[in-house]
Amino acid sequence: MRTSQFFLATLKEVPADAEIVSHQLMLRAGLIRQVAAGVYNWLPLGHRVLSKVSQVVREEMDRAGAQEVLLPAVQPAELWQHSGRWDDYGPELLRFKDRHERDFCFGPTHEEVITTLARSEIRSYRQLPVNLYQIQTKFRDEIRPRFGVMRSREFIMKDAYSFDRDSDGMSQSYQSMYDAYVRIFERLGLQAQAVEADSGSIGGNFSHEFHVLADSGEDAIAFCSPCGYAANVEKVNLTPASCERPDAKETMAEVATPDVHTIAELSAFLKIDAKQTLKTLIVQGSGDLPVALVLRGDHDLNSVKAETLDEIAKPLRMASAKEIEEATGSAPGSVGPVGLKLPVIVDHDASALSDFVCGANRDGFHLQGVNWGRDLAEPTTHDLRQAVEGDPCPTDPLQSIQVRRGIEVGHVFQLGTKYSEALDGNFLDAQGRSQPFYMGCYGIGITRIVAAAIEQSHDENGIIWPAPLAPFDVCIVPIGLKKSEQVANTVEALYAELEEAGFAVLLDDRDERPGVMFSEMDLIGIPHRIVIGEKGLAKGIVEYRNRATGETVDYALDAFVETLKTLSSL
Ligand code: ATP
Ligand code: MG
Repeated sequence: MRTSQFFLATLKEVPADAEIVSHQLMLRAGLIRQVAAGVYNWLPLGHRVLSKVSQVVREEMDRAGAQEVLLPAVQPAELWQHSGRWDDYGPELLRFKDRHERDFCFGPTHEEVITTLARSEIRSYRQLPVNLYQIQTKFRDEIRPRFGVMRSREFIMKDAYSFDRDSDGMSQSYQSMYDAYVRIFERLGLQAQAVEADSGSIGGNFSHEFHVLADSGEDAIAFCSPCGYAANVEKVNLTPASCERPDAKETMAEVATPDVHTIAELSAFLKIDAKQTLKTLIVQGSGDLPVALVLRGDHDLNSVKAETLDEIAKPLRMASAKEIEEATGSAPGSVGPVGLKLPVIVDHDASALSDFVCGANRDGFHLQGVNWGRDLAEPTTHDLRQAVEGDPCPTDPLQSIQVRRGIEVGHVFQLGTKYSEALDGNFLDAQGRSQPFYMGCYGIGITRIVAAAIEQSHDENGIIWPAPLAPFDVCIVPIGLKKSEQVANTVEALYAELEEAGFAVLLDDRDERPGVMFSEMDLIGIPHRIVIGEKGLAKGIVEYRNRATGETVDYALDAFVETLKTLSSL
């Protein structure tokens, strides 16, 4: 490919609305352009990378025995009503009506469609196991689309679904997908780490996520290096504190806290540690009343844990300011558990406090010196909070966990019979009895991988593609192409020879200054660059530069194709 003909869409300026480096670089290098919030065009350069990701994923899925299908992006509501997810999924599900006023959605995932397909096509245990996958566009109306294609509303996912006769078969299918994922991320040059995960709204009972560790990651991953434990922090269970609650020393008193709305403002105003305060969150209950969830001021709610409570409506929904006022008589910033006429569920660590500070259920006031069992009832406690660095490791409580940020690039689940039972997905076993399929589902974020790869590998000059993802393997930058016949002839011959040898070559044949060409090739991250000019040719050499290491070496022109084969281990 020649730059004169290629749709190169690089930008000089860093786009103002792009917060993280991968989003900035994807725009600057001309990989993507935004069409609407969370909806993107993939331009030729980006599409080349995307195709490479899909190809590796496809090869490894095929190798693991999965078969490719293509299911519809648009799905009828009835399927989702049968599984119960039409109501459970919430506003992330993009719903619409056709001209006959029938309800449809744009698929955020395909368990319903695939289970219905399996139900009608797989009759006997002899047809099992089966694993079907597709690489397809999904839509999730994410509450906060951001970071470009990292969290978009429309994105491409590889999703696979396995069907087995029994739980053992499901475990084997799961293991084979897990192994395929390890190979996929290795082949893509990504350092991805498998961690124990929660199954979320997809359901099921056993799951792992694959994460690329990066500071910009939206997930927090807990590690315990001595015992090898690795899990999404959502999944880290915390037990009640082993130490006793200290004795009460203070008496409860109301204190005016004008203009204090947050825990940070409260601890600054009263000059106390946030650890000595409580925060009270009002969420929708499963019954008529809302429910109060109480945490220590410095802790965050783990919505996955909260959703396991019967008292709480699923999906978890925070009460609005109006609902909070109706239920507590106060604005959100001054709510507290004392005298509250709602069900109250308290996190273990919040229940271990004495002489704490909490909202007084009166605007502009808090209570100090509050104690459980004296100023309010002994609490009903539960594990409600997000784990943090330093919490005990769930498998080896003598060790404490470390927390790193991660980007979720893949997720594998054992679903069991959740969908087959809901959607009558049954087959006949060897004894002629009807049995539900044991299912697994396996997702990879194809579009997100491109962003994750850039987060992991870039420098101040631009993207540094891992070789398997690079849109081109090598670029040729001629010096004086239009002026020197010798340069022009050599460049053309080498271009043809490299393409012949199987390299994807980008020849910069524009009439630009060398500096402009160099910086653009650096920005788009081509792994190998060669410069060809009259000076070098006089000595029979090309000037080679490695994008990742910055190393520059002069190589003999006549053996360069062989040299590049070695350098790129093609
Ligand atoms: P997240 O927690 O990041 O929202 P998820 O658990 O909802 O992800 P899955 O349902 O497991 O995601 O989807 C499989 C894969 O699809 C994810 O591992 C991720 O790589 C990708 N993915 C999910 N949501 C998005 C999105 N909004 N934008 C881009 N990729 C996504
Ligand atoms: Mg999600």
